[in-house]
Amino acid sequence: MPQLPLLPRLPQLIETKEEFLRWRQSLISHSVGLVATMGNLHAGHISLVEKSFQENEHTIVTIFVNPKQFGPKEDFAKYPRTLSEDEEKLMASWKRLTPSKNLIIFAPKTTEEIYPPKFLTTISVGKISKLWEGTHRPGHFEGVATVVYLLFQIIKPSIAYFGAKDFQQVQVIKKMTTDLLLDIKIMACPIVRDHDGLALSSRNQYLTTEGRKQSLVLPQTLNLAAKILIEEDNFENFSAFLEKTKENDDRWEYLAYCDSETLINLKQKQPNGILLGVYKVDGTRLLDNLLITLTIKN
Ligand code: AMP
Repeated sequence: MPQLPLLPRLPQLIETKEEFLRWRQSLISHSVGLVATMGNLHAGHISLVEKSFQENEHTIVTIFVNPKQFGPKEDFAKYPRTLSEDEEKLMASWKRLTPSKNLIIFAPKTTEEIYPPKFLTTISVGKISKLWEGTHRPGHFEGVATVVYLLFQIIKPSIAYFGAKDFQQVQVIKKMTTDLLLDIKIMACPIVRDHDGLALSSRNQYLTTEGRKQSLVLPQTLNLAAKILIEEDNFENFSAFLEKTKENDDRWEYLAYCDSETLINLKQKQPNGILLGVYKVDGTRLLDNLLITLTIKN
């Protein structure tokens, strides 16, 4: 019998776990890419979705503002929820790139779809979750690890795409995936930035016009610190630069040079390091990082 051409399958929005599981059970293909988001999609999110379109037959984008990863005084209530605009952006990208592939938007309509009543379990990934973001946002990575584990169980992806913008988050998820023997490839994708260097974030819209200008201190400082580290032979001078930068501006929550896998603070140059920084403007924590790969001469 002649092969029929593949018909375009229109993207679907699924809002309940039950319906999603039914769809998932009917799937034979093992080529399933997951992009987990909290919605309010921007070009950073879309870059992950497009990578998944390129590499998989099916792409699942989840949109769920996960209460467990917000502290009691954080912005859970005011976090922007823009499902119709998000759907439009995903449709536009799907139409442009891959109308022969399958896109499912899984946007649970209630928190109980993910955390049913009497849900008790928390996943904690140990020391790496307690550093940096973990110190400033206690419980944050437990919330992230728990929801990502649940999404992995529901969606059963072969690959999951995360942004290097949240570098520590990627490391925590990689560790959880290895430790719990999950058969899922974790892909870290490059940070997408605005024209002036600020990393895109749903929280940038909280900034005032003046705050938006001040926010550039963050990427500019990371670039300057990297330049000093690369050019300076004396590590003490580089450390002194980081210390002085923090001392002179109390908007820095942290600024540190760390091992790019364990995220432990480094006391000397090494081949794979990362600069991590959080700079607080208008009450909004802006997060950024810069990977620095060096050739160390003996
Ligand atoms: P969120 O909706 O903030 O939870 O982010 C969902 C995913 O998008 C995470 O894997 C983020 O790291 C990623 N992401 C957020 N902002 C960016 C960006 N500027 N560039 C690349 N990925 C990003």
